[in-house]
Amino acid sequence: MGAITGQQFLDRLRDNPPTLYIDGERVTDPTTHPATRNMAHSLAGLYDLQHQPQWRDLLTFEENGQRYATSFMVPRTKEDLARIGEAHRVRANYALGFLGRAPDYMNANVMAAGTGAEYFSACSASVAGDEKRDFAANMRRYFEFVRDNDLCLTHALTNPQVNRAKQASEMPDPYIALGVVEETEEGVIVRGARMMATLPIADEILVFPSTVLKENADKSRYAMGFALPCNAPGLSFQCREPFDIGRDPEDHPLGSRFDEQDAFVIFDDVLVPWERVFLLYDVELANKAYAGTEAVLHMAYQVVNLKVAKTEAFLGTAQAIVNAIGSGQFQHVQSKVAEIIVMLEIMKALEVAAVAGAQPNANGVMTPARGPLDAARNYYPAVYARLPELLQLLGASGIIMMPSKADREGPLGPQIQKYLQAGAASADERLKLFRLAWDMSMSSFGGRQSLYEKFFFGDPVRMHSALYEVYNKQPYVERIQAFLNQAAQPEGVAADD
Ligand SMILES: Cc1cc2nc3c(=O)[nH]c(=O)nc-3n(C[C@H](O)[C@H](O)[C@H](O)COP(=O)(O)OP(=O)(O)OC[C@H]3O[C@@H](n4cnc5c(N)ncnc54)[C@H](O)[C@@H]3O)c2cc1C
Repeated sequence: MGAITGQQFLDRLRDNPPTLYIDGERVTDPTTHPATRNMAHSLAGLYDLQHQPQWRDLLTFEENGQRYATSFMVPRTKEDLARIGEAHRVRANYALGFLGRAPDYMNANVMAAGTGAEYFSACSASVAGDEKRDFAANMRRYFEFVRDNDLCLTHALTNPQVNRAKQASEMPDPYIALGVVEETEEGVIVRGARMMATLPIADEILVFPSTVLKENADKSRYAMGFALPCNAPGLSFQCREPFDIGRDPEDHPLGSRFDEQDAFVIFDDVLVPWERVFLLYDVELANKAYAGTEAVLHMAYQVVNLKVAKTEAFLGTAQAIVNAIGSGQFQHVQSKVAEIIVMLEIMKALEVAAVAGAQPNANGVMTPARGPLDAARNYYPAVYARLPELLQLLGASGIIMMPSKADREGPLGPQIQKYLQAGAASADERLKLFRLAWDMSMSSFGGRQSLYEKFFFGDPVRMHSALYEVYNKQPYVERIQAFLNQAAQPEGVAADD
Protein backbone atom coordinates (compact mmCIF):
# COMPACT_ATOMS: atom_id res chain seq x y z
CA MET A 1 0.00 0.00 0.00
CA GLY A 2 2.66 2.58 1.01
CA ALA A 3 1.93 6.22 1.82
CA ILE A 4 -1.80 6.58 2.53
CA THR A 5 -4.20 9.49 2.07
CA GLY A 6 -6.18 11.21 4.80
CA GLN A 7 -9.35 9.48 3.67
CA GLN A 8 -7.69 6.07 3.93
CA PHE A 9 -6.58 6.94 7.45
CA LEU A 10 -10.10 8.04 8.47
CA ASP A 11 -11.73 4.97 6.89
CA ARG A 12 -9.35 2.68 8.73
CA LEU A 13 -9.91 4.48 12.04
CA ARG A 14 -13.69 4.37 11.63
CA ASP A 15 -13.66 0.67 10.70
CA ASN A 16 -11.21 -0.35 13.46
CA PRO A 17 -11.69 2.19 16.25
CA PRO A 18 -9.32 2.05 19.21
CA THR A 19 -11.10 1.23 22.47
CA LEU A 20 -11.22 4.77 23.84
CA TYR A 21 -13.10 6.00 26.88
CA ILE A 22 -13.73 9.70 27.42
CA ASP A 23 -15.85 11.14 30.23
CA GLY A 24 -17.20 7.72 31.14
CA GLU A 25 -18.28 6.86 27.62
CA ARG A 26 -16.93 4.52 24.98
CA VAL A 27 -16.00 6.39 21.79
CA THR A 28 -17.44 4.21 19.08
CA ASP A 29 -16.28 6.33 16.16
CA PRO A 30 -13.32 8.67 16.76
CA THR A 31 -13.83 10.25 13.34
CA THR A 32 -17.17 11.71 14.46
CA HIS A 33 -16.96 11.95 18.28
CA PRO A 34 -16.83 15.65 19.30
CA ALA A 35 -13.70 15.18 21.44
CA THR A 36 -11.65 13.39 18.79
CA ARG A 37 -13.05 14.15 15.34
CA ASN A 38 -11.08 17.36 14.78
CA MET A 39 -7.83 15.69 15.76
CA ALA A 40 -8.65 12.71 13.54
CA HIS A 41 -9.23 15.08 10.62
CA SER A 42 -6.04 16.99 11.42
CA LEU A 43 -4.13 13.71 11.25
CA ALA A 44 -5.86 12.99 7.97
CA GLY A 45 -4.60 16.37 6.75
CA LEU A 46 -1.09 15.34 7.69
CA TYR A 47 -1.43 12.17 5.62
CA ASP A 48 -2.79 14.21 2.72
CA LEU A 49 0.19 16.54 2.89
CA GLN A 50 2.44 13.76 1.62
CA HIS A 51 0.41 13.58 -1.61
CA GLN A 52 0.41 17.30 -2.36
CA PRO A 53 2.50 17.97 -5.48
CA GLN A 54 4.53 20.57 -3.57
CA TRP A 55 5.60 18.09 -0.87
CA ARG A 56 5.29 14.65 -2.43
CA ASP A 57 8.96 14.26 -3.35
CA LEU A 58 10.13 15.37 0.08
CA LEU A 59 7.55 13.64 2.26
CA THR A 60 7.63 10.31 0.44
CA PHE A 61 10.34 8.21 -1.17
CA GLU A 62 10.25 5.40 -3.70
CA GLU A 63 11.58 1.90 -3.11
CA ASN A 64 10.87 -1.19 -5.22
CA GLY A 65 8.16 0.67 -7.14
CA GLN A 66 6.31 1.72 -3.98
CA ARG A 67 6.04 5.17 -2.31
CA TYR A 68 6.47 5.31 1.44
CA ALA A 69 6.47 8.12 4.00
CA THR A 70 9.98 9.57 4.28
CA SER A 71 9.95 9.03 8.06
CA PHE A 72 10.26 5.28 7.30
CA MET A 73 13.32 5.80 5.11
CA VAL A 74 16.45 3.94 6.23
CA PRO A 75 19.14 6.64 5.92
CA ARG A 76 22.29 5.39 4.20
CA THR A 77 23.98 8.75 3.66
CA LYS A 78 24.11 12.13 5.36
CA GLU A 79 22.00 13.47 2.49
CA ASP A 80 19.31 10.91 3.35
CA LEU A 81 19.43 12.01 6.95
CA ALA A 82 19.16 15.69 5.99
CA ARG A 83 16.19 14.87 3.76
CA ILE A 84 14.46 12.99 6.57
CA GLY A 85 15.08 15.98 8.85
CA GLU A 86 13.60 18.40 6.33
CA ALA A 87 10.54 16.16 5.99
CA HIS A 88 10.18 16.09 9.79
CA ARG A 89 10.26 19.90 9.86
CA VAL A 90 7.71 20.31 7.07
CA ARG A 91 5.34 17.91 8.83
CA ALA A 92 5.98 19.64 12.16
CA ASN A 93 5.06 23.02 10.66
CA TYR A 94 1.62 21.66 9.86
CA ALA A 95 0.73 22.09 13.56
CA LEU A 96 3.40 24.73 14.34
CA GLY A 97 5.34 22.02 16.18
CA PHE A 98 2.51 21.45 18.66
CA LEU A 99 1.82 17.84 17.67
CA GLY A 100 4.34 16.03 19.84
CA ARG A 101 3.53 12.54 18.67
CA ALA A 102 2.71 12.95 15.00
CA PRO A 103 3.28 9.55 13.35
CA ASP A 104 6.86 10.43 12.28
CA TYR A 105 8.05 9.94 15.84
CA MET A 106 7.05 6.31 16.07
CA ASN A 107 7.96 5.73 12.43
CA ALA A 108 11.53 6.63 13.37
CA ASN A 109 11.29 4.18 16.28
CA VAL A 110 10.14 1.20 14.18
CA MET A 111 12.56 2.04 11.36
CA ALA A 112 15.53 1.92 13.75
CA ALA A 113 14.23 -1.10 15.67
CA GLY A 114 13.49 -2.93 12.43
CA THR A 115 16.91 -2.31 10.92
CA GLY A 116 18.61 -3.04 14.26
CA ALA A 117 16.37 -6.05 14.94
CA GLU A 118 19.30 -8.40 15.46
CA TYR A 119 19.41 -6.92 18.98
CA PHE A 120 16.28 -8.90 19.87
CA SER A 121 17.74 -12.25 18.82
CA ALA A 122 19.83 -12.15 22.02
CA CYS A 123 16.65 -12.48 24.10
CA SER A 124 16.68 -15.93 25.65
CA ALA A 125 12.91 -16.35 25.14
CA SER A 126 13.45 -15.93 21.41
CA VAL A 127 13.64 -19.30 19.66
CA ALA A 128 15.72 -19.41 16.50
CA GLY A 129 14.04 -21.47 13.78
CA ASP A 130 10.60 -21.02 15.32
CA GLU A 131 8.96 -18.61 12.91
CA LYS A 132 6.74 -17.02 15.56
CA ARG A 133 9.27 -16.84 18.38
CA ASP A 134 12.08 -15.44 16.32
CA PHE A 135 11.90 -12.00 17.95
CA ALA A 136 14.40 -10.38 15.61
CA ALA A 137 12.38 -11.54 12.59
CA ASN A 138 9.19 -10.34 14.32
CA MET A 139 10.66 -6.85 14.75
CA ARG A 140 11.88 -6.74 11.17
CA ARG A 141 8.47 -7.83 9.85
CA TYR A 142 6.71 -5.36 12.10
CA PHE A 143 8.71 -2.46 10.70
CA GLU A 144 7.76 -3.52 7.17
CA PHE A 145 4.13 -3.96 8.17
CA VAL A 146 3.92 -0.48 9.71
CA ARG A 147 5.74 1.12 6.77
CA ASP A 148 3.78 -0.73 4.09
CA ASN A 149 0.45 0.25 5.63
CA ASP A 150 1.59 3.71 6.79
CA LEU A 151 0.17 2.95 10.23
CA CYS A 152 -0.27 5.50 12.95
CA LEU A 153 1.25 4.28 16.23
CA THR A 154 0.92 5.26 19.85
CA HIS A 155 3.25 3.93 22.54
CA ALA A 156 3.32 3.48 26.30
CA LEU A 157 6.50 2.94 28.30
CA THR A 158 5.99 3.79 31.95
CA ASN A 159 4.13 1.86 34.61
CA PRO A 160 1.48 3.53 36.82
CA GLN A 161 2.96 5.89 39.43
CA VAL A 162 1.39 4.23 42.52
CA ASN A 163 4.65 4.06 44.54
CA ARG A 164 7.98 5.02 43.03
CA ALA A 165 9.79 3.78 46.17
CA LYS A 166 8.93 0.23 45.21
CA GLN A 167 9.67 -2.07 42.30
CA ALA A 168 6.88 -3.33 40.08
CA SER A 169 6.86 -6.69 41.85
CA GLU A 170 6.44 -5.03 45.28
CA MET A 171 3.18 -3.22 44.47
CA PRO A 172 -0.05 -4.17 46.31
CA ASP A 173 -1.04 -6.18 43.26
CA PRO A 174 1.61 -7.82 41.05
CA TYR A 175 -0.33 -6.72 37.97
CA ILE A 176 -0.57 -2.99 38.57
CA ALA A 177 2.52 -2.68 36.40
CA LEU A 178 2.08 -4.40 33.05
CA GLY A 179 3.26 -7.99 33.35
CA VAL A 180 3.11 -11.36 31.66
CA VAL A 181 0.47 -13.64 33.19
CA GLU A 182 1.11 -16.77 31.16
CA GLU A 183 2.24 -18.18 27.84
CA THR A 184 -0.12 -20.03 25.54
CA GLU A 185 0.26 -21.68 22.14
CA GLU A 186 -0.92 -18.44 20.51
CA GLY A 187 1.16 -15.99 22.48
CA VAL A 188 1.49 -14.32 25.87
CA ILE A 189 -1.29 -12.99 28.06
CA VAL A 190 -0.47 -9.61 29.61
CA ARG A 191 -2.24 -7.80 32.43
CA GLY A 192 -1.77 -4.42 34.11
CA ALA A 193 -1.53 -0.81 32.98
CA ARG A 194 0.77 1.70 31.39
CA MET A 195 0.64 5.30 32.55
CA MET A 196 0.63 7.31 29.40
CA ALA A 197 0.07 6.92 25.68
CA THR A 198 -0.18 10.15 23.72
CA LEU A 199 -2.17 9.98 20.49
CA PRO A 200 -4.40 7.01 21.33
CA ILE A 201 -6.37 7.85 18.18
CA ALA A 202 -4.08 5.41 16.43
CA ASP A 203 -4.02 2.11 14.58
CA GLU A 204 -1.58 0.28 16.83
CA ILE A 205 0.17 0.54 20.18
CA LEU A 206 3.85 -0.27 20.53
CA VAL A 207 4.93 -1.36 23.99
CA PHE A 208 8.62 -1.04 23.37
CA PRO A 209 10.89 -2.39 26.08
CA SER A 210 10.91 0.14 28.89
CA THR A 211 14.17 1.69 30.04
CA VAL A 212 13.26 2.02 33.67
CA LEU A 213 13.05 -1.52 35.03
CA LYS A 214 14.85 -1.96 38.33
CA GLU A 215 14.38 -5.65 39.06
CA ASN A 216 16.79 -7.67 41.17
CA ALA A 217 16.60 -10.70 38.90
CA ASP A 218 17.84 -11.03 35.29
CA LYS A 219 14.42 -12.34 34.27
CA SER A 220 11.23 -10.50 34.97
CA ARG A 221 7.60 -10.76 33.94
CA TYR A 222 7.72 -6.95 33.56
CA ALA A 223 10.36 -6.98 30.83
CA MET A 224 8.65 -7.07 27.46
CA GLY A 225 8.28 -5.51 24.05
CA PHE A 226 5.34 -6.04 21.72
CA ALA A 227 2.79 -4.38 19.46
CA LEU A 228 -0.98 -4.72 19.12
CA PRO A 229 -3.89 -3.15 17.26
CA CYS A 230 -5.50 -0.48 19.45
CA ASN A 231 -8.75 -2.46 19.41
CA ALA A 232 -7.24 -5.75 20.62
CA PRO A 233 -9.67 -7.57 22.95
CA GLY A 234 -9.10 -6.54 26.59
CA LEU A 235 -7.17 -3.38 25.72
CA SER A 236 -8.68 -0.01 26.76
CA PHE A 237 -7.52 3.60 26.67
CA GLN A 238 -8.83 5.91 29.38
CA CYS A 239 -8.40 9.40 27.91
CA ARG A 240 -7.81 12.58 29.91
CA GLU A 241 -10.22 15.51 29.79
CA PRO A 242 -10.38 16.76 26.19
CA PHE A 243 -8.94 20.18 25.38
CA ASP A 244 -10.94 20.38 22.17
CA ILE A 245 -14.16 21.76 23.62
CA GLY A 246 -15.83 22.47 20.33
CA ARG A 247 -14.88 26.14 19.99
CA ASP A 248 -14.35 27.84 16.67
CA PRO A 249 -10.75 27.42 15.42
CA GLU A 250 -10.42 31.23 15.47
CA ASP A 251 -11.00 31.10 19.23
CA HIS A 252 -8.94 27.98 19.99
CA PRO A 253 -6.58 27.80 17.01
CA LEU A 254 -4.54 24.89 18.40
CA GLY A 255 -6.79 23.14 20.91
CA SER A 256 -9.65 22.85 18.46
CA ARG A 257 -7.49 21.07 15.88
CA PHE A 258 -4.48 19.45 17.50
CA ASP A 259 -5.53 17.91 20.80
CA GLU A 260 -3.56 14.70 20.36
CA GLN A 261 -4.99 13.33 23.65
CA ASP A 262 -3.16 11.32 26.31
CA ALA A 263 -4.48 8.06 27.65
CA PHE A 264 -3.95 5.66 30.49
CA VAL A 265 -3.70 2.17 28.98
CA ILE A 266 -5.32 -0.85 30.60
CA PHE A 267 -4.46 -4.39 29.54
CA ASP A 268 -7.10 -6.76 30.87
CA ASP A 269 -5.63 -10.19 30.09
CA VAL A 270 -4.74 -9.24 26.55
CA LEU A 271 -3.37 -11.87 24.19
CA VAL A 272 -0.23 -10.76 22.39
CA PRO A 273 0.29 -13.18 19.49
CA TRP A 274 3.82 -14.62 19.37
CA GLU A 275 4.56 -12.96 16.05
CA ARG A 276 3.97 -9.59 17.74
CA VAL A 277 6.42 -10.25 20.60
CA PHE A 278 9.86 -8.61 20.31
CA LEU A 279 11.30 -9.20 23.76
CA LEU A 280 10.35 -11.17 26.84
CA TYR A 281 11.62 -11.47 30.44
CA ASP A 282 15.13 -10.14 29.75
CA VAL A 283 15.69 -7.13 32.04
CA GLU A 284 19.03 -6.02 30.67
CA LEU A 285 17.92 -6.19 27.04
CA ALA A 286 14.70 -4.36 27.92
CA ASN A 287 16.54 -1.56 29.69
CA LYS A 288 18.95 -1.04 26.83
CA ALA A 289 16.60 -1.56 23.88
CA TYR A 290 16.37 2.08 22.83
CA ALA A 291 20.13 2.54 22.95
CA GLY A 292 20.93 -0.94 21.62
CA THR A 293 18.81 -0.52 18.49
CA GLU A 294 19.77 3.17 18.25
CA ALA A 295 16.05 3.97 18.04
CA VAL A 296 16.65 6.70 20.63
CA LEU A 297 18.89 8.59 18.21
CA HIS A 298 16.51 8.50 15.26
CA MET A 299 13.64 9.53 17.55
CA ALA A 300 15.71 12.33 19.07
CA TYR A 301 16.53 13.47 15.54
CA GLN A 302 12.81 13.73 14.78
CA VAL A 303 12.43 15.62 18.06
CA VAL A 304 15.16 18.19 17.40
CA ASN A 305 13.58 18.96 14.02
CA LEU A 306 10.15 19.22 15.61
CA LYS A 307 11.43 21.59 18.29
CA VAL A 308 13.09 23.80 15.69
CA ALA A 309 9.66 24.18 14.05
CA LYS A 310 8.03 24.85 17.41
CA THR A 311 10.58 27.50 18.41
CA GLU A 312 10.16 29.17 15.01
CA ALA A 313 6.44 29.35 15.75
CA PHE A 314 7.14 31.07 19.07
CA LEU A 315 9.49 33.51 17.37
CA GLY A 316 6.96 34.30 14.64
CA THR A 317 4.15 34.79 17.15
CA ALA A 318 6.26 36.92 19.49
CA GLN A 319 7.41 39.23 16.70
CA ALA A 320 3.89 39.45 15.27
CA ILE A 321 2.67 40.63 18.70
CA VAL A 322 5.48 43.19 18.87
CA ASN A 323 4.58 44.42 15.38
CA ALA A 324 0.88 44.54 16.20
CA ILE A 325 1.18 46.70 19.31
CA GLY A 326 4.24 48.69 18.28
CA SER A 327 6.47 47.71 21.21
CA GLY A 328 9.57 46.90 19.16
CA GLN A 329 11.47 50.07 20.09
CA PHE A 330 11.78 49.07 23.75
CA GLN A 331 15.11 47.47 24.53
CA HIS A 332 13.75 44.86 26.91
CA VAL A 333 11.22 43.82 24.25
CA GLN A 334 14.05 43.36 21.73
CA SER A 335 15.95 41.40 24.33
CA LYS A 336 12.98 39.08 24.94
CA VAL A 337 12.63 38.33 21.23
CA ALA A 338 16.41 37.83 21.08
CA GLU A 339 16.10 35.16 23.79
CA ILE A 340 13.86 33.16 21.46
CA ILE A 341 16.30 33.68 18.59
CA VAL A 342 19.13 32.28 20.73
CA MET A 343 17.08 29.18 21.61
CA LEU A 344 16.14 28.69 17.98
CA GLU A 345 19.71 29.00 16.74
CA ILE A 346 20.96 26.58 19.41
CA MET A 347 18.38 23.97 18.36
CA LYS A 348 19.14 24.53 14.67
CA ALA A 349 22.86 24.17 15.32
CA LEU A 350 22.31 20.94 17.24
CA GLU A 351 20.25 19.58 14.35
CA VAL A 352 23.00 20.44 11.87
CA ALA A 353 25.66 18.98 14.17
CA ALA A 354 23.68 15.73 14.50
CA VAL A 355 23.88 15.28 10.72
CA ALA A 356 27.46 16.56 10.34
CA GLY A 357 28.69 14.08 12.95
CA ALA A 358 26.55 11.18 11.70
CA GLN A 359 28.27 7.81 11.19
CA PRO A 360 27.13 4.62 9.49
CA ASN A 361 26.48 1.87 12.03
CA ALA A 362 27.29 -1.83 11.58
CA ASN A 363 24.11 -2.28 9.49
CA GLY A 364 25.04 0.59 7.21
CA VAL A 365 22.38 2.88 8.73
CA MET A 366 23.55 6.50 8.80
CA THR A 367 23.13 7.27 12.49
CA PRO A 368 22.90 10.86 13.74
CA ALA A 369 25.54 11.92 16.26
CA ARG A 370 24.57 11.28 19.83
CA GLY A 371 26.24 14.28 21.52
CA PRO A 372 24.20 17.06 19.88
CA LEU A 373 20.98 15.06 20.21
CA ASP A 374 21.58 14.38 23.90
CA ALA A 375 22.27 18.09 24.31
CA ALA A 376 19.02 18.99 22.50
CA ARG A 377 16.84 16.62 24.49
CA ASN A 378 18.29 17.84 27.77
CA TYR A 379 18.41 21.53 26.82
CA TYR A 380 14.90 22.03 25.41
CA PRO A 381 12.93 20.68 28.42
CA ALA A 382 15.01 22.99 30.62
CA VAL A 383 14.35 26.15 28.61
CA TYR A 384 10.91 25.56 27.10
CA ALA A 385 8.99 27.13 30.00
CA ARG A 386 10.58 30.47 29.09
CA LEU A 387 8.89 30.46 25.65
CA PRO A 388 5.26 30.70 26.87
CA GLU A 389 6.46 33.08 29.58
CA LEU A 390 7.98 35.36 26.94
CA LEU A 391 4.70 35.43 25.02
CA GLN A 392 2.91 36.42 28.22
CA LEU A 393 5.46 39.15 28.97
CA LEU A 394 5.22 40.53 25.43
CA GLY A 395 1.45 40.27 25.10
CA ALA A 396 0.48 41.26 28.67
CA SER A 397 -3.27 41.97 29.04
CA GLY A 398 -3.72 41.42 25.31
CA ILE A 399 -3.38 37.68 25.93
CA ILE A 400 -6.37 37.63 28.22
CA MET A 401 -8.68 40.33 26.84
CA MET A 402 -9.76 38.50 23.73
CA PRO A 403 -13.47 38.69 22.89
CA SER A 404 -14.46 35.60 20.92
CA LYS A 405 -15.54 35.36 17.31
CA ALA A 406 -19.17 35.32 18.51
CA ASP A 407 -18.50 38.49 20.57
CA ARG A 408 -17.08 40.22 17.53
CA GLU A 409 -20.20 39.32 15.59
CA GLY A 410 -22.47 40.34 18.52
CA PRO A 411 -23.98 43.68 19.62
CA LEU A 412 -20.64 45.07 20.86
CA GLY A 413 -18.89 44.18 17.59
CA PRO A 414 -18.30 47.77 16.43
CA GLN A 415 -16.87 48.81 19.81
CA ILE A 416 -14.63 45.78 19.86
CA GLN A 417 -13.38 46.67 16.39
CA LYS A 418 -12.59 50.21 17.59
CA TYR A 419 -11.03 49.57 20.98
CA LEU A 420 -9.24 46.33 20.33
CA GLN A 421 -7.63 47.19 17.05
CA ALA A 422 -3.84 47.13 16.94
CA GLY A 423 -1.43 49.82 15.82
CA ALA A 424 -0.69 47.70 12.79
CA ALA A 425 -3.75 45.44 12.47
CA SER A 426 -7.53 45.34 12.61
CA ALA A 427 -9.22 44.00 15.75
CA ASP A 428 -10.07 40.77 13.91
CA GLU A 429 -6.44 40.20 12.95
CA ARG A 430 -5.12 41.21 16.34
CA LEU A 431 -7.52 38.98 18.26
CA LYS A 432 -6.76 35.97 16.07
CA LEU A 433 -3.06 36.46 16.78
CA PHE A 434 -3.51 36.90 20.52
CA ARG A 435 -5.79 33.86 20.65
CA LEU A 436 -2.96 31.86 19.11
CA ALA A 437 -0.48 33.23 21.66
CA TRP A 438 -2.92 32.30 24.44
CA ASP A 439 -3.38 28.75 23.10
CA MET A 440 0.40 28.38 22.88
CA SER A 441 1.04 29.62 26.37
CA MET A 442 -1.96 29.73 28.70
CA SER A 443 -4.97 27.67 27.68
CA SER A 444 -5.42 24.10 28.92
CA PHE A 445 -3.85 23.08 25.60
CA GLY A 446 -0.88 25.40 26.22
CA GLY A 447 -0.53 24.27 29.85
CA ARG A 448 -0.35 20.66 28.80
CA GLN A 449 2.36 21.58 26.30
CA SER A 450 4.46 22.96 29.15
CA LEU A 451 4.19 19.69 31.07
CA TYR A 452 4.71 17.68 27.91
CA GLU A 453 7.95 19.47 27.08
CA LYS A 454 9.32 18.69 30.54
CA PHE A 455 8.64 14.95 30.43
CA PHE A 456 7.93 13.67 26.92
CA PHE A 457 11.37 12.09 26.47
CA GLY A 458 11.55 10.91 30.08
CA ASP A 459 12.22 12.37 33.51
CA PRO A 460 14.65 15.30 33.03
CA VAL A 461 16.45 14.42 36.27
CA ARG A 462 17.21 10.89 35.13
CA MET A 463 18.02 12.07 31.59
CA HIS A 464 20.71 14.31 33.07
CA SER A 465 22.08 11.38 35.08
CA ALA A 466 22.10 9.22 31.96
CA LEU A 467 24.01 11.91 30.07
CA TYR A 468 26.48 12.17 32.94
CA GLU A 469 27.00 8.40 32.77
CA VAL A 470 27.52 8.05 29.00
CA TYR A 471 29.42 11.24 28.20
CA ASN A 472 33.17 10.74 27.90
CA LYS A 473 34.52 13.39 30.23
CA GLN A 474 37.94 11.82 30.75
CA PRO A 475 39.88 13.65 27.99
CA TYR A 476 38.91 16.97 29.58
CA VAL A 477 39.93 15.79 33.04
CA GLU A 478 43.29 14.71 31.59
CA ARG A 479 43.80 18.08 29.91
CA ILE A 480 43.17 19.87 33.20
CA GLN A 481 45.50 17.45 34.95
CA ALA A 482 48.21 18.12 32.37
CA PHE A 483 47.72 21.87 32.71
CA LEU A 484 47.95 21.69 36.50
CA ASN A 485 51.11 19.59 36.33
CA GLN A 486 52.61 22.03 33.88
CA ALA A 487 51.68 24.98 36.11
CA ALA A 488 53.21 23.27 39.12
CA GLN A 489 56.57 22.97 37.33
CA PRO A 490 56.95 25.86 34.90
CA GLU A 491 59.43 24.98 32.16
CA GLY A 492 62.94 26.36 32.72
CA VAL A 493 62.23 27.44 36.28
CA ALA A 494 63.91 25.52 39.05
CA ALA A 495 61.78 24.54 42.01
CA ASP A 496 63.92 26.54 44.51
CA ASP A 497 64.22 29.69 42.36
C1 LIG B 1 1.93 15.20 28.52
C2 LIG B 1 2.71 13.94 28.59
C3 LIG B 1 2.69 13.06 27.51
C4 LIG B 1 3.39 11.85 27.57
N1 LIG B 1 3.33 10.98 26.52
C5 LIG B 1 3.90 9.76 26.63
C6 LIG B 1 3.78 8.79 25.59
O1 LIG B 1 3.21 9.04 24.54
N2 LIG B 1 4.31 7.57 25.79
C7 LIG B 1 4.98 7.27 26.92
O2 LIG B 1 5.45 6.14 27.04
N3 LIG B 1 5.14 8.16 27.91
C8 LIG B 1 4.61 9.39 27.79
N4 LIG B 1 4.74 10.30 28.80
C9 LIG B 1 5.35 9.84 30.05
C10 LIG B 1 6.76 10.25 30.26
O3 LIG B 1 7.61 9.31 29.65
C11 LIG B 1 6.94 10.27 31.77
O4 LIG B 1 6.19 11.37 32.27
C12 LIG B 1 8.37 10.39 32.23
O5 LIG B 1 9.11 9.28 31.84
C13 LIG B 1 8.43 10.49 33.77
O6 LIG B 1 7.77 9.40 34.33
P1 LIG B 1 6.52 9.62 35.28
O7 LIG B 1 5.60 10.60 34.70
O8 LIG B 1 5.99 8.28 35.60
O9 LIG B 1 7.13 10.32 36.56
P2 LIG B 1 7.70 9.61 37.85
O10 LIG B 1 8.71 8.60 37.48
O11 LIG B 1 6.58 9.10 38.69
O12 LIG B 1 8.41 10.84 38.58
C14 LIG B 1 7.68 11.75 39.42
C15 LIG B 1 8.69 12.58 40.21
O13 LIG B 1 9.51 11.74 41.01
C16 LIG B 1 10.89 11.82 40.65
N5 LIG B 1 11.44 10.46 40.59
C17 LIG B 1 10.76 9.31 40.46
N6 LIG B 1 11.60 8.27 40.42
C18 LIG B 1 12.84 8.77 40.49
C19 LIG B 1 14.14 8.19 40.49
N7 LIG B 1 14.33 6.89 40.38
N8 LIG B 1 15.19 9.03 40.56
C20 LIG B 1 15.03 10.35 40.66
N9 LIG B 1 13.83 10.95 40.67
C21 LIG B 1 12.75 10.17 40.60
C22 LIG B 1 10.89 12.47 39.25
O14 LIG B 1 12.08 13.22 39.00
C23 LIG B 1 9.65 13.36 39.31
O15 LIG B 1 9.97 14.57 39.92
C24 LIG B 1 4.11 11.52 28.75
C25 LIG B 1 4.15 12.42 29.82
C26 LIG B 1 3.47 13.62 29.76
C27 LIG B 1 3.52 14.54 30.94
